[in-house]
Amino acid sequence: MAEFNADSFRSRVRAFLDANAPDLPFRTGTRAPENDEEDAQFRAWSRDLYAQGFYGADWPQQYGGNPHHHSDEEFIVSDEFARKRAPTPVGAGSLASHALINFGTPEQCDIYLPAIRSYEHVWCQLFSEPDAGSDLASMRTTAVRDGDVYVVNGQKVWSTNAYRSDMGYLLARTDPNVVKQAGISAFALDMSLPGIETRPLREMTGTSDFNEVFFSDVRVPASAMIGAVNDGWRIATDSLGAERAGVGALVVRLRQNLDALIDLARRSQRANGRASDDPTVRQTLAAFAARVQIATLMSQATMERRQRGTSRVMDVPVSKLSFANLNWDIAEYGVMLQGMRGTLAHGESEAADHGRWQDELLYAKAYTISGGSNQVMQNMLGERALGLPRDGK
Ligand SMILES: Cc1cc2nc3c(=O)[nH]c(=O)nc-3n(C[C@H](O)[C@H](O)[C@H](O)COP(=O)(O)OP(=O)(O)OC[C@H]3O[C@@H](n4cnc5c(N)ncnc54)[C@H](O)[C@@H]3O)c2cc1C
Repeated sequence: MAEFNADSFRSRVRAFLDANAPDLPFRTGTRAPENDEEDAQFRAWSRDLYAQGFYGADWPQQYGGNPHHHSDEEFIVSDEFARKRAPTPVGAGSLASHALINFGTPEQCDIYLPAIRSYEHVWCQLFSEPDAGSDLASMRTTAVRDGDVYVVNGQKVWSTNAYRSDMGYLLARTDPNVVKQAGISAFALDMSLPGIETRPLREMTGTSDFNEVFFSDVRVPASAMIGAVNDGWRIATDSLGAERAGVGALVVRLRQNLDALIDLARRSQRANGRASDDPTVRQTLAAFAARVQIATLMSQATMERRQRGTSRVMDVPVSKLSFANLNWDIAEYGVMLQGMRGTLAHGESEAADHGRWQDELLYAKAYTISGGSNQVMQNMLGERALGLPRDGK
């Protein structure tokens, strides 16, 4: 087997992005297309990224995975996408494919995995509810068996891109009479079924990435269940674990943002010269550089341990917390460095870098919540790594 050559893989990703990155408006984080035209562009671009093997390389070979795939590829891909500020695949296809590959039937894999790769199906994640976010197991959406279908009733919220999704990775309660984690099942939900209503929400970023999704007597074929009945909690925990572990790759964004921040400081004029000549600005930038270096090394160690199967209980929460907090601090400084212009909105031509820092800051809060909030990560650290008494809720 040919040895993995990181430099040549990086060159291939970079050349592809330089030649093909679409002219789509860059928005930080996991966002949704704003209109039909953007939706079509995002789908075509996401399809190309899977076809290139930049995503889905770790899938089984029969579904398009690369048996010679190397685990460093994920980090290199993230690094190059951050460098280019190129959009990453839209939707929750990666989360859903993880569940299907590990728990789905061969028939489900045959139907859904090719459609995820080709972007015929865009997926959304239908987990959170108005009273079940951090405490996800308290979900109230029900799926009641009726012959060869399950009848689904209830409501989800914060469902990114649900409005434009073809499929939903749904969790619903199938047994209300057992402890809450033991009565949940997972489904591959066709979003075009009668009884599903999706309402977009507008966020403080100015875009509509989230949705509310309402279910009224939605008849879902029993064959759409992923895994066994009442095994949804284990399936979801596995998917979320993989999603959180992927946060290590996000750390590359910090270095890119720090470089952009230094560039902004060089360009920002103060009454007595450039911001980058100001000792307090220089001290702050140097302190950020130290934190970025620490976060990068920690996340590399986390990824290496994951590859070797020697992960530690504190790896993921520490990586996620350090990324989310530092990402916020850098974005906030980017806004502050602009002085009064920092109050202008994303997209306004007078704002530095067209309001990149404003968008970064408004979205930075999302990283402290999604995939497990900072407080939940701290609880995980306290209870599982430090052996502190369990959270009394
Ligand atoms: C960008 C983004 C994208 C998302 N996309 C999706 C999606 O596609 N699909 C989906 O299903 N969900 C999605 N979510 C929802 C996300 O999973 C939830 O927001 C998250 O689980 C937190 O739940 P909540 O918003 O209900 O807050 P809550 O759980 O109500 O928490 C409110 C506050 O209380 C704190 N808190 C809660 N419990 C504890 C505790 N035990 N100890 C200490 N503090 C606590 C939290 O940290 C938080 O500050 C997304 C969220 C974001 C930010």
